[in-house]
Amino acid sequence: MSNSLLQTPIEYLKGVGPQRGELLRKEIGIHKYEDLVNFFPNRYIDRTRYYKINELNNNVAEVQIIGKIIHIKTVEFGKAKKRLVATFVDDTGEMELVWFQGQKWIRESLKLNIPYVIFGKVTNFNGQYNMAHPEMELFTEHEKSLRSAMQPIYPSTEKLTNKGISNRVVVKIMQQLFIETQARFAETLPNAILEELKLIPKNAALFNIHFPKSPELLAKAQFRLKFEELFFIQLQLITKNLVRKHKIKGHPFTIVGNHFNNFYENHLPFELTNAQKKVLKEIRNDLGSNAQMNRLLQGDVGSGKTIVALMAMLIALDNGFQSCLMAPTEILATQHYNGLTELAKDLNINIKILTGSTKTSERKIIHEELENGSLHILIGTHALLEDKVQFDNLGLAIIDEQHRFGVEQRSKLWKKNDIPPHILVMTATPIPRTLAMSLYGDLDVSVIDELPPGRKPIQTVHRYDSNRLKVWKFIKDEIEKGRQIYIVYPLIQESETMDYKDLMDGYESISRDFPLPKYSISIVHGKMKPADKEAEMKRFSEGKTNIMVATTVIEVGVNVPNASVMIIESAERFGLSQLHQLRGRVGRGAEQSYCILMTSHKLSNDSKIRLETMCKTNDGFEIAEVDLKLRGPGDIMGKQQSGVLNLQIADLVKDKDILILARNKAIDLLKKDPSMSLPEHQTMKTVFLELSKKKNIWNYIS
Ligand code: ADP
Ligand code: MG
Repeated sequence: MSNSLLQTPIEYLKGVGPQRGELLRKEIGIHKYEDLVNFFPNRYIDRTRYYKINELNNNVAEVQIIGKIIHIKTVEFGKAKKRLVATFVDDTGEMELVWFQGQKWIRESLKLNIPYVIFGKVTNFNGQYNMAHPEMELFTEHEKSLRSAMQPIYPSTEKLTNKGISNRVVVKIMQQLFIETQARFAETLPNAILEELKLIPKNAALFNIHFPKSPELLAKAQFRLKFEELFFIQLQLITKNLVRKHKIKGHPFTIVGNHFNNFYENHLPFELTNAQKKVLKEIRNDLGSNAQMNRLLQGDVGSGKTIVALMAMLIALDNGFQSCLMAPTEILATQHYNGLTELAKDLNINIKILTGSTKTSERKIIHEELENGSLHILIGTHALLEDKVQFDNLGLAIIDEQHRFGVEQRSKLWKKNDIPPHILVMTATPIPRTLAMSLYGDLDVSVIDELPPGRKPIQTVHRYDSNRLKVWKFIKDEIEKGRQIYIVYPLIQESETMDYKDLMDGYESISRDFPLPKYSISIVHGKMKPADKEAEMKRFSEGKTNIMVATTVIEVGVNVPNASVMIIESAERFGLSQLHQLRGRVGRGAEQSYCILMTSHKLSNDSKIRLETMCKTNDGFEIAEVDLKLRGPGDIMGKQQSGVLNLQIADLVKDKDILILARNKAIDLLKKDPSMSLPEHQTMKTVFLELSKKKNIWNYIS
């Protein structure tokens, strides 16, 4: 059908009009015919089934029942509140229908003792079933209307329902739309793909998604539409990446020179793992091309990202460029600084650190050296983003733990220059493949999927609070062997005071059970001054204390190889990725390490799954997949990024296979026809351009 008809404002559709049009726009974002066609049901129910009142039970959600209203009354409740209650009967029993809104109008329009078909959610209150705001239709009308076995249920809002735009109304409007458009919708996918994947045509898909003729056709319609949605997103992401590589020039680092080679040949403290080598190669390729690198480096805690970062910075240096590394906290920045200066101690290069607490005199030196080019590598926190920080020639910016820096903040680093530096984002938070593909499709991803050799996998167990004595005994044995212990308490912002009390109570009882002078204990929490925190951390990392009691402030940061036990209190209150991060604090030395998850007996299903997952695997990616299933993509990626995930019909968790298929097909197609200029791709290209205009995929970094 012609494009222009689909652009018609929704109020022009027969049966809509200005008032409903306004509601549809405001409540569910339907502005035009096109939006309505693409407004898909979120489920279907079997409307061929009629329940009897005596068949109702607490497990049935939505039902339709044939019966009559025999009585209507208004019941007052609360302060001047009223509800309308009708007694509804069939030959097996009686129930109540209840209205809170529009009572006057409803009371006037209801007919007594005439068969109705009602539809809605039943709830049981004091042994009696009732249905609030049922959808009602006279049985005679109901008989006349054509209905398929699978009745679509559209997403709705309270306001829509209250203002009379019930599901039935939406269905009617949809029918009208199909009449006005004669149900002819232009094909959007190339023929070759339709044939190869045996997809049903767009027309049939749209028809069957709204008015399924059979479960089989519905499934086909869903598959086709999900594929299409994901395919066009992938087209966007992939072309964007290609365009970026063409358009955004980067400094070509063509030389692999003295600094790199000297380090690689003479100062490598250990052999690189194959994963590290692979990633390094990917980075070198990027740096050597004429395009700006935009690479995400994923690697579990302890997988050895630091040395990769250093070697990338050495390449920059070999090409006469400066580098910087930004970390989210001062502790982390300091740790990076220590790690990198240690690795680079024989290289004769100038590395400095800049944080909020850098002294003015030192700051001045840093600013000077940065501008005259004698400072090679600058490590720091947000302080690097200050206007005063001016690089002579920044060639590579490495960002650790990407999710803590906003896009805008990042771009501050290179607004100053014409050619942007190469960007490497490092994260220890594994992102499930499906999410990475849909969110970072325009970003290149490297994965270090292998730990350095000789690490003993951390053993993780779940213990109930009632077994605490045994756990304490275990800790004492470990301390006896010279090991150190972390005990972590939850800290959740909303109940900070309570958490703080838990922590302090815990600290007191631990102090009692592990008394001086035999044992010494450190404590670190968010209410302490940074200097005090720092000092306590230092005591622990120097081995002066046996136990570190802490809130999650230690989540990112400290590296104490001698610590071999991580005890997580109220572990049921932590999310999976946090548990995994915390566990990563141990297992850094040569000794066998343990993680003990302490909980009460009261556990939700989700908590159980989280605990089981932790005990079963150390693999961050596997954990991330479970996390994605439990929480859904929106929660995992945060608000900012979840916009992209506002999918019409596909589901990133459930439709993983379709996503992979769509991505592969998009890649194949763009390989053959990068600019989509072949005649058979013209329709697709039009759709693609329309979509790009409308739904700009959130630009991850560039
Ligand atoms: P992360 O990826 O968590 O930043 P690090 O870079 O801090 O990991 O490395 C963790 C530890 O493993 C460090 O002590 C580091 O020296 C060591 N390490 C890194 N790569 C290797 C390797 N290939 N062989 C042995 N040890 C390594
Ligand atoms: Mg690290």
